[in-house]
Amino acid sequence: MNLKEPPAMSDGRLPDPDHRPWPWWPPARPAPAEAPQPSSDASYGRQVDPGALDVRHGVVLYLDNISVSFDGFKALNALSLAIDAGELRCVIGPNGAGKTTMMDVITGKTRPDAGSAFFGQTIDLTRLSEAEIAHAGIGRKFQKPTIFEHHSAFENLELAMKADKRVRRTLFARLSSEEEGRIAATLDRIGLAASAGRLAGLLSHGQKQWLEIGMLLMQEPKLLLLDEPVAGMSDEETERTAELFVSLAGEHSLVVVEHDMAFIASIARKVTVLHEGSVLAEGALDVVQNDPRVIEVYLGR
Ligand code: ADP
Ligand code: MG
Repeated sequence: MNLKEPPAMSDGRLPDPDHRPWPWWPPARPAPAEAPQPSSDASYGRQVDPGALDVRHGVVLYLDNISVSFDGFKALNALSLAIDAGELRCVIGPNGAGKTTMMDVITGKTRPDAGSAFFGQTIDLTRLSEAEIAHAGIGRKFQKPTIFEHHSAFENLELAMKADKRVRRTLFARLSSEEEGRIAATLDRIGLAASAGRLAGLLSHGQKQWLEIGMLLMQEPKLLLLDEPVAGMSDEETERTAELFVSLAGEHSLVVVEHDMAFIASIARKVTVLHEGSVLAEGALDVVQNDPRVIEVYLGR
């Protein structure tokens, strides 16, 4: 990402074509036919109203019989999984089990060869672009944080909020006191209130990870996907991340993939063990850890 440009404009598009502060700007441009949504700017999708998420049956995510093949190799093999609204689900499994591929399917990065993926009762994820899925309320934290190093922590959250297409405003408009309050509350939540003015590039590794989580939170996702969020963190940062995730559950639903079993033990409610692209075991951590098939998969490597 080009850090010298306002990020919402880095792909050449204008920050908010629907809400023009001046009628003569921007100059009319013909829409490119079948313009692909850039995956680097997932916030531009707009077709699914996030308010439309239907969780009346208590399920926020429903994967049914999902298969994904790469050159004949089944990375996901009839994977079925249901995440309850407000749940904090941990997903573990050996390398190559298909954990990241599962997140790729949920976020639309990879299309399944078979099976269905629903967000709430009605939103068919297999029919949406990555941008539309992000807009519908699924936030994903990548292993490498995608923060703006040359902006302060506060500005990073501000930029994340302004990149949210649901907020109809321009990039250059002043913040309302309500918006400032939201940013301050999020900084507080991610433990960066005292570092609000600090350049993001100067934050510790763990703080950068929290900042990226804060940027996701500014878009008020219903479901957060976190792939190995504590990799590289100090023990103290790991503990604080556990507290953060536990505090986010309920308000948000979380799917956390992690190898750090001490971390998993500190946050785990229900745990899903993936192996060879499908669910090997599911339940309380002590139950799955004592499951002979799980022990074999981990020890048999
Ligand atoms: P995990 O995250 O559980 O370690 P992944 O989902 O990354 O596992 O990978 C599952 C399997 O699919 C691995 O064997 C991996 O090599 C393979 N795989 C993942 N993505 C691709 C891809 N784009 N092309 C080919 N093989 C892939
Ligand atoms: Mg992975």
